[in-house]
Amino acid sequence: MVKRKSTFLSPKKMPPLNVLPTEVRLDASTLCQLDCVSCYMRKENYAAHGAGYLKYSDFVNFLDKNPYVKEIELSNSGEIFLNKDLLKIIEYAYQHDVILYADGGVNFNHVSDEILESLVKYQFRGVVVAIDGASQEIYSKYRRKGNFDAVIDNIKKLNEYKKKYNSEFPLLGWKYVIMETNDFETEIQSAITTAASLNVSIVFRKSWDGYITKNEEILKRDDYQTVINKDGSEQMPCIDFFERPQINWDGRLFGCCVNCWKDFNVNVFDIGLEKALNTEIVIQSKKMLMGQGVCKDSPCYQCGLYRNMAHIHNDKLGYWIRLRRKLIPEKIRKKALKILHK
Ligand code: SF4
Repeated sequence: MVKRKSTFLSPKKMPPLNVLPTEVRLDASTLCQLDCVSCYMRKENYAAHGAGYLKYSDFVNFLDKNPYVKEIELSNSGEIFLNKDLLKIIEYAYQHDVILYADGGVNFNHVSDEILESLVKYQFRGVVVAIDGASQEIYSKYRRKGNFDAVIDNIKKLNEYKKKYNSEFPLLGWKYVIMETNDFETEIQSAITTAASLNVSIVFRKSWDGYITKNEEILKRDDYQTVINKDGSEQMPCIDFFERPQINWDGRLFGCCVNCWKDFNVNVFDIGLEKALNTEIVIQSKKMLMGQGVCKDSPCYQCGLYRNMAHIHNDKLGYWIRLRRKLIPEKIRKKALKILHK
């Protein structure tokens, strides 16, 4: 499995607001050649992100202006391999000791040999390929216009380059989101067998539409249960806003990977990350997520996750973030607020 930092919000990991993130999420492309059934980007005409890709000149400018950023997640709402500047971006990051990865997911349908080789040569850290099936028939039910064999061929080619360079990078993952259309024992078993033969770690995930697998073995797996942590707390994308903020391909700050409706009205490429994170709206939004005040102009104000937190807070339970089973104690909240008010 591709190793990555946990995004779970737990008291121990609560980040102080005055620390600049060494990691960001910078969307390399919102373009996509597929037509996945429930993709909000295609349904909503690219939503607030707009259609486009990260330009090499912006990437260079971003790294030069923000030298404390050392790790970048490139995937979010499109296919990074449709970025025409990707080769140069990968090479530049490598030359400047910046780690790149795509754990959010790629479809891997069209990747040139040159790019595949560069992923190995320039030590791209990890790639998670979204493959929701083990055959063309099942895979293409959700990933319309996708070609299962092409994806598997690209994984094989990448493995050849890894052999050639004697490299373990990029680490490869296979993400299988279980939906009604692919929840078959034979298909799931075939995916497990194929992944093993390709030396790829497979993980099974719940579908956003709430469908729960009927496969008892999958139900027991930790990877399928990732929405809930072992200690009972809930995964919160909000932590990314604090630890590795989401930046759009054109530099607009979106905060986290969930937000697709409104940016923070600030452009990181124009003013730099530090200034962007210190704008009033960002500070007020973070305070709001920490249970201190309300910022109606914030994109977070429109978010269901914030509404959930606010509801619980208003119930005067004494907790500032609602976690599904385990809530953050008041004393931790107070400590975080102290840091905030320094
Ligand atoms: S409240 Fe919603 S939009 Fe704001 S950081 Fe959390 S998940 Fe993202």
